Amino acid sequence: MTLTASIPVKRTTQSRLSTIDFSNLGFGNYISDHMLVAKYDKGQWQEPQIIPYGDLMLSPAMLSLHYGQAVFEGMKAFHMKDGNINIFRVERHHKRLNRSLARMCMPAISEELFVAGLEAIVKTDADWIPRDDGSSLYIRPVVFASEAKLGVKVADQYLFVILTSPVGPYFSKPVRLKVELEYVRAAEGGTGYAKCAGNYGGAFYPTQQAREQGFDQVIWTDAKEHNYIDESGAMNIMFVLDNKLVTPALSSSILDGVTRNTIITLAKDLGVVVEERKVSVEEIEKGLQNKKLTEAFGAGTAAVVSPIATINIHGTDYHLPPVKEDSFQLRVKNALGEIRKGTAPDKYNWNHIVK
Ligand SMILES: *Cc1c(COP(=O)(O)O)cnc(C)c1O
Repeated sequence: MTLTASIPVKRTTQSRLSTIDFSNLGFGNYISDHMLVAKYDKGQWQEPQIIPYGDLMLSPAMLSLHYGQAVFEGMKAFHMKDGNINIFRVERHHKRLNRSLARMCMPAISEELFVAGLEAIVKTDADWIPRDDGSSLYIRPVVFASEAKLGVKVADQYLFVILTSPVGPYFSKPVRLKVELEYVRAAEGGTGYAKCAGNYGGAFYPTQQAREQGFDQVIWTDAKEHNYIDESGAMNIMFVLDNKLVTPALSSSILDGVTRNTIITLAKDLGVVVEERKVSVEEIEKGLQNKKLTEAFGAGTAAVVSPIATINIHGTDYHLPPVKEDSFQLRVKNALGEIRKGTAPDKYNWNHIVK
């Protein structure tokens, strides 16, 4: 990429790196020293630059605040066993970003700009990539309307920013989830498949209600009848039912998770039968009752897999057996970890190696 070499870097004179306790990172608590910023104006993306991370001067009239043109991505970079840096599944994240941007009438980002921007920011803050097993550099590309105007319109000016954050191993303890039968995250034909900020804003209230009732998250159901399962919080949901991997088929109300796609691909490699189809609440309830549903987990970049301990349906708590060493979710998580580290072959070209 010729652009990578040409992105100007203005380095900070006050690195915060030495203040970070890498043995206790948590998730999303720290932002690395630098950020990439590119402006969209006059119908095109302008030259990106890397500058010290800090506040931006923006107008409170900027259109993203009022009318919601804001989309983001969430991805990770790792140290590989051989010392190289690996940014995982860049191409698929780029395609999804552009699908989200298109849904929100926002300008596409070229693969060249996206890839060069990622490489440049990850190289600039390479010392921020944690080295412990299971840790990584979380990467947050975000695009938002920056034009200042009160009138309702599609903006003509945007910012593309990439932030990064060193994150620790995500030991997610098994979660308690409630099947949401009143509120809706996304309806067919809406913006559910786009990674846009507003989807999160609208999900907070029902999630807070569920928290007050003692749950960690909700499982969203279809907007029409609440009969079919969509996904859970910021994760796609997967079940092991009758020894098959069962997950809701993608629709316009479900986010097309990269982790979901990765797990489906690896499951087939592991010889597991995969079913992507409509999954009814009733079917899940039956499976929990007759114990044919043996595993349930969330799939997302942050935790990879997040085991589910309890699912509440119509007020009844159903408990899943504890995750065992030979559980599918652990086997697939390990298989993925090996590919990312470079200790297993990367036969699908998922690793984007930064030298
Ligand atoms: C980001 C996200 C996911 C998970 O996608 P990954 O690409 O696997 O991280 C699932 N659901 C929603 C609503 C999301 O925003």
